[in-house]
Amino acid sequence: MGNLLCATETPNTLTLICDLDGTLLPKPHKNEAGVLKNPTLREGAAFAPIERLLNDGGTIYGVTGSKLSSHKPRFWDDLPLSARCEGRVLLFCETGMSLFRPNEEGEPVEDESYGPFPGNTKRYLPTSTVNAFVAAARAAVRQWFQDLKADPALLDAGHWLIPLADRWADEDAPLSHDPKQTPRIEVRGDTADTVAGVMVAGVPIQYGAKYLTPCLIPGEIEGVPTGRLCFDAVVPGLNKKLVLDWLLREKVIDPKSGAVVCFGDSPGGNDAGLTAYHMGGIPFVSVCEHDKKVPEPLMPWHTGHNERGSGATISRLADLQKERKGKAGPIVNLNTLNKIVDEARASL
Ligand SMILES: [Mg+2]
Repeated sequence: MGNLLCATETPNTLTLICDLDGTLLPKPHKNEAGVLKNPTLREGAAFAPIERLLNDGGTIYGVTGSKLSSHKPRFWDDLPLSARCEGRVLLFCETGMSLFRPNEEGEPVEDESYGPFPGNTKRYLPTSTVNAFVAAARAAVRQWFQDLKADPALLDAGHWLIPLADRWADEDAPLSHDPKQTPRIEVRGDTADTVAGVMVAGVPIQYGAKYLTPCLIPGEIEGVPTGRLCFDAVVPGLNKKLVLDWLLREKVIDPKSGAVVCFGDSPGGNDAGLTAYHMGGIPFVSVCEHDKKVPEPLMPWHTGHNERGSGATISRLADLQKERKGKAGPIVNLNTLNKIVDEARASL
């Protein structure tokens, strides 16, 4: 791996551990020409506060279900070069199966020694499992579009998926990594032997459990709806908690420091793993779009409003980091964070 810089914690600076889609990155949307746009960090409300926090010595770790190829341009490339070159940025991809660290030029390089499972190992899906899931998911996506074609009221009037139903009720969703293609099935792995997950796009989150959960194979492939139109199926046991466990195991973060905060928009879903140590020194801030989807015990730390909520909360954390610079002791605890979240929420 050569001259990789280690991620080390600088005293009295904050480390944020963040989900990306729906948390830091603005939502994809169709432009006037009907083309789907995937905005980058810089285009959203979280960018300026994150830039300020990093320029002041802070650290950020992204944790995403996606591959590096899609989130390097949307996240990594927008972060200040100095923070990247100093190793204050890490990106965990594919639900934490792979880790990218910056080299001296600030470019992401995969850390081959990293593995999320005990012993820093990786686990992959057998090809037969991938094939069985893809076949079942294709039938399920087709069924979803057949049902939508028969009853467009399944979605709000004018939803952009409705006109797609005619075609995809009769056609299989393609295997593709093109974010502009909906529906699609993304098989995530560099080779057939190293597939850690399969993402299905095209079934809205509220219908994911009905149509796609039955495609899973207990003990072989697990999954949950993860985004507005996405369902992630992964290696059993793979979830974002393993990233926190690795960071703790390798002593990259210290739960006693009062300097680490997690952010996610799906605390009851694919970000549940990031809430694992909420009471144990690694507090979690929810920016979930819907209040009802936030587990009750996390409500005092729920800002909501997706990347706007993250921006408003991180802005206050950046202020606090600046204020605490050079002073001993923790920067943040559950009480201070609760006050910050209340202020941020009220400002939106
Ligand atoms: Mg998310």
